[in-house]
Amino acid sequence: MKKVTTLVAGLAVGILALTGCGKEGAPGEQGSGGEAPEYKVAEGVDLADSPTWKKAKDAGKIKVGVKYDQPGLGNISAGADKPEGFDIEIAKMVSASLGFKADEIEFVETVSANREPFLQQGNVDMIVATYTINDKRKEVVDFAGPYYVAGQDLLVKADSDIDGPDSLAGKKVCSVDGSTPAQNIQEKYKDAELVTYDAYSKCVTDLQSGNVDAVTTDDAILRGYAAQYKDEFKVVGKPFTEEPYGIGLPKDDKALRDAVNDALEASKDSGDWKKAFEYTLGDSSGVEQPQPDRY
Ligand code: GLU
Repeated sequence: MKKVTTLVAGLAVGILALTGCGKEGAPGEQGSGGEAPEYKVAEGVDLADSPTWKKAKDAGKIKVGVKYDQPGLGNISAGADKPEGFDIEIAKMVSASLGFKADEIEFVETVSANREPFLQQGNVDMIVATYTINDKRKEVVDFAGPYYVAGQDLLVKADSDIDGPDSLAGKKVCSVDGSTPAQNIQEKYKDAELVTYDAYSKCVTDLQSGNVDAVTTDDAILRGYAAQYKDEFKVVGKPFTEEPYGIGLPKDDKALRDAVNDALEASKDSGDWKKAFEYTLGDSSGVEQPQPDRY
């Protein structure tokens, strides 16, 4: 199993960002674009019963863990200095309803494997990072949501005949340490040769060089890469799991969890969820817009 450290992956992403290597497009290319949504910052919020909220309020900023290399969801594209994507919009929207302005959010890069430790150690106050809600994770962290449901899928070369997880026998498939898709391959598709890194961008580089035959993770993430490498890659398009995305929170901070759930509920009625989706994942995903009510 190949591994790279966070630092190396971080550098690789940094270099990609600097050179724009192999990537096309500009910040905001993913969705229908238009004006960046603005979320009303709630006034007079007082979550005295939430230790996490109180600590953030005292510090004058809320720390949110997000991905930096997942176009459309959480990504820093070439030439940009801030992350953007659907998860970033959800983070801004929820932070606003907790009383934090956009410039009071500190984004912190997380990779799949360090999300639970980051919440447990207090490095971040919440995580919005394509984070599947499941029982194992719920033993150590809490979740609000879900706010979106993705499904595990495969990214392959445009001319590949891989058409689902059952055709992975004897093939090299890349995913990320600490992710549900890697675990699923390990448990259910034992004939596939799993290669793991700490971040998906490294898998994509391996797919391009022919080092692996497929990349597996959530369809929403893979569509972002497919859009960047238009004629080179395709998403198989037959999701074989359900991945409900939640907002990761420190365990047992019920006041915060309730407030974040309320914020997500309210965003469906106010139209903010829809605006966030259209501005980011939106029509570039090639799939119909899901109804927020489903979540
Ligand atoms: N949603 C899956 C997970 O939480 C895969 C995406 C990711 O690694 O962030 O593990």
